[in-house]
This record gives sequence, structure tokens and C-alpha cells, in this order.
Amino acid sequence: MSDLLPRHRAVMPNWLSLYYDEPIEIVRGKGNRVVDAEGHSYLDFFAGILTNMIGYDVPEVRDAVERQLATGVVHTSTVYLLRAQVELAEKIARLSGIENAKVFFTNSGTEANETALLLATYARRSDQVLAMRQSYHGRSFGAISVTSNRSWKNNSLSPLNVHFLHGADRHLTQFRGLSDADYIAACVDDLRHVLATAVSNDVAALIAEPIQGVGGFTMAPDGLFKAYKEVLDEEGILFISDEVQTGWGRTGSAFFGIQGHGVTPDMMTFAKGLGNGFAVGGVVARGDLMDAPHAIGLATFGGNPISMAAANATLDYVLDHDLQTRAATTGAILIDGLRAAKGRLPIVGDVRGKGLMFALELVDPGTGAPSPALAARFMEETKKLGLLAGKGGLYGNVLRMAPPLTLSEEEAREGLGIILTALETINGETG
Ligand code: PLP
Repeated sequence: MSDLLPRHRAVMPNWLSLYYDEPIEIVRGKGNRVVDAEGHSYLDFFAGILTNMIGYDVPEVRDAVERQLATGVVHTSTVYLLRAQVELAEKIARLSGIENAKVFFTNSGTEANETALLLATYARRSDQVLAMRQSYHGRSFGAISVTSNRSWKNNSLSPLNVHFLHGADRHLTQFRGLSDADYIAACVDDLRHVLATAVSNDVAALIAEPIQGVGGFTMAPDGLFKAYKEVLDEEGILFISDEVQTGWGRTGSAFFGIQGHGVTPDMMTFAKGLGNGFAVGGVVARGDLMDAPHAIGLATFGGNPISMAAANATLDYVLDHDLQTRAATTGAILIDGLRAAKGRLPIVGDVRGKGLMFALELVDPGTGAPSPALAARFMEETKKLGLLAGKGGLYGNVLRMAPPLTLSEEEAREGLGIILTALETINGETG
């Protein structure tokens, strides 16, 4: 056993989740692989938790950070101008497609969502918010109140008055067997019904993830967000797209996940991979919302010089190498390959995803019930074979995978081979 595990248990909270029976201590990274303290190399199919976007030890990012350090400029504040911050904001505003967009930087996704919710509630003078079932937006009081999964909510205190919609969550019996079009119609009915019955006066915003990350990479059918947006526009309700997991070309189809749904939101929040490991998050919003009376952000360290240097270098790398297009191609190798194998693997209940954000749902082959035990088994088996994955979802049986966008086609095939080998082994064990 690693000497770190008992020391970790002694001084760190028990609720920190370590995915493996014998947790891994990662000590080095290069390209799309990481190496643990015992020298085992892994193809990284979870990329931190999507915090690595363009692989490890990238000279462009390292040089940018070292150049910034060499200036001695580590002045972190919000009261002086910073060229790298303005330049990054210009790029993000342009890519967002939002009219007259302005950007505010934070250190994390949670802070980004807090800021977006503050902006929306200032602008609309309302503390009422709509969110989606099975969502995850962070664990501060505001973010947790729009998060929807009992096991991620440790209290019911909420600074917001929140109503939850269905969206990607099609678990209810009444939704089974519905076509996408009928399901969307039912969701729109539900939204209108909530607006007619559950709220008072104005609602500030709807916050939603284009693909629900922690929720198990669950996906709303194409057309749902567009249909929601029409109702929101009629009612003057703002739409906040939480792009913390889906931003920067991850979904292959578009630069931000919601753009793949043909929707331009009023605000987007982002974080995770933008700094390729350096902490950076933020909000890009319509200028009138960002500058609404009383609007103010939160984050002394937001937009600090080191994170800005890393983020500019990372975003330039994504754009220069057209990684969004590459994610669509490598993602298709993986998703198509898994779909093709599903028929012969009764433990695989579902394969879903877009670009380099894809998931497998493992089920008991006899009953079809979600099987967190098989998901845990998959994690151990793929670890043995040299691949890191993530798990989660409402029942803990979803295997989530999101490699760096720099994954090559060869690495995608290698990863697919490992995943299939693991699934075949586990499937055999259940037979
Ligand atoms: N929003 C989404 C969609 C997330 O997946 C997460 C984290 O997993 C957050 C917000 C919170 O981000 P952070 O952990 O950086 O505060």
C-alpha cells in the first residue's frame, strides 16, 4: 500500500472520493499519458477531471508560464490592467457568439456559476431560478442549490428559490418509450406548467449543462434547449449555459456545448481545462448583464497573471491545432467502436457521448439494473491495463471518459482496445 494512503486518511476528509481500491499517486505526465509513483504509465481518459485539455508537459504552456514568472509580475489584484487578461477576454468574447459579450474571470467553476447567478438575479431583480434534474454546478450555497442529486447536496439551505426541470433526466416511467419530439413537447409543457404554478412573478434564469457532467454525461435530446429557449425568450428569462465540462471544443460539434444545440445563451460559465491544469474559470455574458446596476464579481485571485498566461497559451493551442475538429474524429472512433460492441456485451446498458466526452452505463446483465459494482470492477481492470477513467452518475454505474483533446487517432484505438478488453473480461465473469 502506498505510504500516502494512511497519511491521506489521517489528515484529509473521508468524503474525498478516491476512485481505486489502491489509489494512484500521479507523479509525471507527458502527452496524453501520466505515470504513477511506481512507474506505471496510463493513457489518461479522464484528464484530471477534464482539467487537462491539451496533454501534459506542453512546451507552449510551460514557456508561457515561465515567461510570466520571469517578469516578476505575480501581482494579483483586480485594480490594475493586465494585458493577458484583456487578450484572453477578447478571444472568449469572440468565440462565445454572445452579442457585446464581456468576460469576468474566477478561479473555479463554482465561482463562475455563483457569479452568473448573481448577475442574473441582479439583472432580473428576482431570486427565482430554474435548473435541471441531475445537474451539478458546484458546492457553494448558490451552486449547490441549483445542483440536483441528493447525494451531492449536503443541506437544503438555498439563497435562491429553485425549480427543477427534466431535461436530460428521462428516468420517469411516463417518459419511457417517448420519441425525442414527444419528450421535448412534454418538457416544454412541464416548463410552462412550472412557470404558471410554481413561481411568483419574474424568474431570473435557467441554468443548465449542455451535457450533464457529474450527472453521468447525460444528454438532452437535440432540440430540447432550443424549445426551452423559445419559452424563456417569451418570458424574458435568461439562459445560463454551464460549459465547465463542455467548453473549448470538447463535444466536437461546436466550440461550446450549447452551440451544438443551435442556441446562443445569455451567459456561459467555464473553468476546468482552460488553464490546462492552472486554476481559471469565468463567465462570459451579454454586456448589459455584466454591467447591470449593482452587479459585482467575486474573486481577488480571478484572472491572475499565471493562470492568464497558461489559459492564453492553452486556448491558442486549441485553436491553432483545430482540436475541436480532432475531438469529433477521435470521439467518433471511440463512441462508434463502443456502440458496435454493445450488442455482444450485455453488461453495457448504454453508450452515449459527443466528441471526446463519452460514457458507458454498466448494468446487471440479468435484471438490467444499474450496477455500481461492475463500474468499480471496470475501473480496476482498466487501471491494470493502463487506462484511467472516471465514474459517477445518479446510481454510480456510469463510466465517464474525456481524454485530452490532443488524443491521437492511434491513441483513441489503443484506448478503445483497452476498454473493450476490460468489458469482455467483466462480461465473462458475470456469465
Ligand atoms: N459546473 C460543472 C458542470 C462541473 O462539472 C463542475 C465541477 O465538476 C463545476 C461546475 C464546479 O467547478 P469547480 O469544481 O471548478 O468549482
